[in-house]
Amino acid sequence: MEKDAALMEKIISFAKRKGFIYPGSEIYGGMAGMYDFGPYGVELLNNLKKEWWKEYVQRRDNYVGLDSAMFKDPRVWEASGHTGGFSDPLSECRKCNTRIRVDKELGKIGVTADEKMSESDLNALFDEHKAKIKCPKCGAHDFTPVRAFNLLVKTNMGDFTGTNEEPVYLPGEACQGIYLNFKNVVDTTRVKVPFGIVQIGKAFRNEISPRNFLFRTRELEQADTQFFVKPHENKEAYDRIKEERWAWYLKMGIREENLKWKQHENLVFYAKDAWDIEYNFPSYGFDELEGIHDRTDYDLTQHMKHSGTDLNYTDPFTGEKYIPWILETSVGLGRMFLAFISDAYTEDELNGEPRTVLKLSRELAPIKVAVFPLLKNKPELVAKAREVFSMLKEEMMCEWDDNGNIGKRYRRQDEIGTPACVTIDFETLEDNTVTVRDRDTGEQKRVAIADLMAALK
Ligand code: ATP
Repeated sequence: MEKDAALMEKIISFAKRKGFIYPGSEIYGGMAGMYDFGPYGVELLNNLKKEWWKEYVQRRDNYVGLDSAMFKDPRVWEASGHTGGFSDPLSECRKCNTRIRVDKELGKIGVTADEKMSESDLNALFDEHKAKIKCPKCGAHDFTPVRAFNLLVKTNMGDFTGTNEEPVYLPGEACQGIYLNFKNVVDTTRVKVPFGIVQIGKAFRNEISPRNFLFRTRELEQADTQFFVKPHENKEAYDRIKEERWAWYLKMGIREENLKWKQHENLVFYAKDAWDIEYNFPSYGFDELEGIHDRTDYDLTQHMKHSGTDLNYTDPFTGEKYIPWILETSVGLGRMFLAFISDAYTEDELNGEPRTVLKLSRELAPIKVAVFPLLKNKPELVAKAREVFSMLKEEMMCEWDDNGNIGKRYRRQDEIGTPACVTIDFETLEDNTVTVRDRDTGEQKRVAIADLMAALK
């Protein structure tokens, strides 16, 4: 894959031009770390969510879904450790006031800053290497001392005094709702340990430097699975979960050479193991796509302590009581979207002509089929095409296009990843067959309208 800055720029402008991603609040000049999903973007995003959800809630009988409220009792974030420890090390350029995230800048020059480091040790490490770190904006090497910057976003929800002394936070991560409802799910459904709860939910982080398009944003959406196991019965399930997440990306069409495993060197104190699936992002290379964490009983124990509610699980067969351990997978849908669109973005030649084509799997493609009347000024062709279009629309996302020559219409659909185009021509009026053209090969074949739905599926 092209690794120069140009490829990322190309994908950003392509995503905007084709209605996938728009910069947030653009008419006001844009807002850092915010993006809006356009008409094709929201289809791709929804398809990613749908496929991910299907993988767990539909295909497996030991996973259930959940959708918890974004606003939560502020004590939740104390229990989870977010009000105290959910911070990134911040420093500011003394020349132009640009803020940098110190651990990431150190990482770029090959120096690892341990998450557990005290502020003074981190400052010492930063001082040692400062000369090699440049301000990304003005190039200076003159920075303020490092301080921990908390990423939680506060709101004034329910604050009628105007003092905001007890702020309610936006979620720093989506998974907390799962822990809060562990007992509810056990009490009201037929799940038994080992089982999983999954959720897709929004999270907000006051990221110091949102960057790399959808990779690091301040508003994000996370798809989480939390799998509850008996204490110490984590290893086998963890290995299985890792394998399954890797296989899911391949099944959905990501090229294996663009994925890599990375084990965390510095584990948080409660974790047993942590791995990231990294993706080879355009222009900046391999970086975290999804985290897979073996979290022991930390989450439920913390919520039990802070809420005073017993979160022990009672084994229905043995009567044994314990706090289950949790195996988590967590992926940002923006990062996932960026990985899929980057992987699918292809510039190739078809019949000697250059084209851009988004080689998304059929499940993920925003539009499944486009319908074209050969000529828009022939009412009988248009009427027949409308008939076919109406039939298909009931079953799948379709697009109508009667504008320009057929070649141009094919190119437009190739760019947004539509796997098939159907053309209604004069032959259709005689024998009720249509031309179906394949996105990847450009091959065309005649298919009877009666068989069209099955052929497309
Ligand atoms: P990083 O080290 O990159 O800040 P993290 O390790 O804090 O990320 P987690 O808290 O484990 O990330 O979040 C789980 C997943 O959520 C990540 O793997 C990533 O896909 C996604 N994610 C986290 N922060 C962001 C963000 N600011 N923008 C987009 N996606 C994010």
